[in-house]
Formats: sequence, structure tokens, C-alpha cells
Amino acid sequence: MKFARRRVMFESALEMIEADVRAAGAGEELSLSIDERFSIVPCKEGTLYLAGRELDARNHADAVIELADIVQYEVIDVLMTLWPWCNQHNSLANPQLKDDIPVWWCESGKHTLHRIGGIALQLLFRSYSA
Ligand SMILES: [Zn+2]
Repeated sequence: MKFARRRVMFESALEMIEADVRAAGAGEELSLSIDERFSIVPCKEGTLYLAGRELDARNHADAVIELADIVQYEVIDVLMTLWPWCNQHNSLANPQLKDDIPVWWCESGKHTLHRIGGIALQLLFRSYSA
């Protein structure tokens, strides 16, 4: 995949995850953007990063999972909030592909908490102090 197309793919994946973060009522404090470093080697593509981590995904679904993992870590690290949280099982959900669809997956209850990028009403923040 061409570099410019990969960049668009990651930008669109990031928008989906940011929608979930905003729907949960946070994210203003997070400033996340896809960064690129150009290669100094002629004819070699540059590299894309989010929050300092190199991005490897080659298709959109994998890109959503890869970025969701990074954004989740940033939310926990920067906002000190466990997100997204499954109230039913008192458990942190993780990004996973289910039937090729990126979802927030609750491993404790083996269920989909919410499709990533959906209207994330079911996603609730839980503060460490709560
Ligand atoms: Zn659950």
C-alpha cells in the first residue's frame, strides 16, 4: 500500500477511536496525531507513528486495532482512567477483531462491549480513585 494511502487509513482509524473517547466524555486532554518520519533512503517509504509507536497495520481493521491499543494505553497513562470499562463484569475491555469487525471486547464475560467507532453510550469511564 502506498504511503499516502496508509496515512489516510490510519487517520480514518484514529477518528473512529477518538469518537469513542469523546462519547465517553473525555479526550480533550489527549492530543493524538499520526506522525511521519521520512526515509533518508531513496525510494524507501517513510514510517508512521502514534504516540511514539511505529505503526505496522496493512489494512483498515488491523489499523483500528493497532491504534485502539495505543489510545487505550494513553487514556490509562495520561488520564489515569481505566477505559473502556465493562460494568457488568467489572473489567477492562480490549480492542479485538471479531468476525473481522474491530470491537471493544470484554474477556471476563466473553462479549462485545461495543463496536469501535460506534456511538459509545455503553462505554463508561472508571477513575482509579472511584
Ligand atoms: Zn463484560
